[in-house]
Amino acid sequence: MGAIVFDSEQRVVLWNTWMERHSHLLSSQVWGKDFSTLFPTLIGKRLHSAIEQALHNNFPSVLSQTLHHATFALYASAKELTDEIFLQQAIEVIPVDISGMPRHCLVQVMDVSPAVTREKLLREQALVLRSQTFADGLTGIANRRCFDETMEKEFRRAKRALSPLSLIMIDIDYFKPYNDLYGHQRGDQCLKSVASALINSLHRPSDLVARYGGEEFAIILPETSAEGAMKIGENIRANIEKLSIEHSYSTASKYVSASVGVATQTPEHVSEISALIGAADRALYEAKRSGRNCVVAQAVI
Ligand code: GH3
Ligand code: MG
Ligand code: MG
Repeated sequence: MGAIVFDSEQRVVLWNTWMERHSHLLSSQVWGKDFSTLFPTLIGKRLHSAIEQALHNNFPSVLSQTLHHATFALYASAKELTDEIFLQQAIEVIPVDISGMPRHCLVQVMDVSPAVTREKLLREQALVLRSQTFADGLTGIANRRCFDETMEKEFRRAKRALSPLSLIMIDIDYFKPYNDLYGHQRGDQCLKSVASALINSLHRPSDLVARYGGEEFAIILPETSAEGAMKIGENIRANIEKLSIEHSYSTASKYVSASVGVATQTPEHVSEISALIGAADRALYEAKRSGRNCVVAQAVI
């Protein structure tokens, strides 16, 4: 731990070896010099007033690292010195009464870098964990859980704002034979390509593309009319076919294709989330029945 003692005139009377090691200033270089000369950048700062409080009012202070970023120019090693990376410090300022002399003040400096690093690491890990619980492991897009939560949120918002809300369901055509004949790995690769085609087909930040399950995807389109959703649906269908992923076992196209179901809830006819999902599902079923690789819309009932 670092220790500095200032006399009543704020002159350094003690500068321990820990301070020498981390500041690269020898005790002989600082001894007798006052605070303002040694630390011109700290004049008037929190640490300076804490020292004045200790000397004049006998008042101790603790300066935690989180509230007061690196104060003294202290470094963990020579490398940090070159890179100008300060040691993270927690500082305690303690008034010291010595009989027969004006009051002195002890400044203790603790290196809290490891604690700070650990805290930062934990925060980052929590962030990664949080993002993982909402992302699909294979494609990296939103998962079913994220879809469910977003749907709830957007449904409420649409109801409140009296705005339309559209939902698109997408299911890859003849994906079972694709897997059976090209292999599971190519199947996985295909799912990733389709997911990125979906992402690239959308432009509004509020649109959400999710993997609904297996080879099914769902897209939530806030503030999007039936007409707009139909256009996006057709665009998506075309973009998936344009990936030109060979699929010799499909009768819907020579490439991997998908069937698309569209449904829109209008402000004039608000019901339940299940009704909107049901309508998009029915639309998708109709698209499959109509020969696949096409887009069908159904009304919410
Ligand atoms: P349809 O045109 O009627 O949709 O026929 P389909 O073969 O696509 O439909 P079905 O639901 O019978 O098959 C879905 C297949 O999707 C089953 C499974 O082999 C495949 N599948 C689901 N999830 C995954 C996955 O994560 N990876 C891979 N490679 N295949 C998957
Ligand atoms: Mg399916
Ligand atoms: Mg399918």
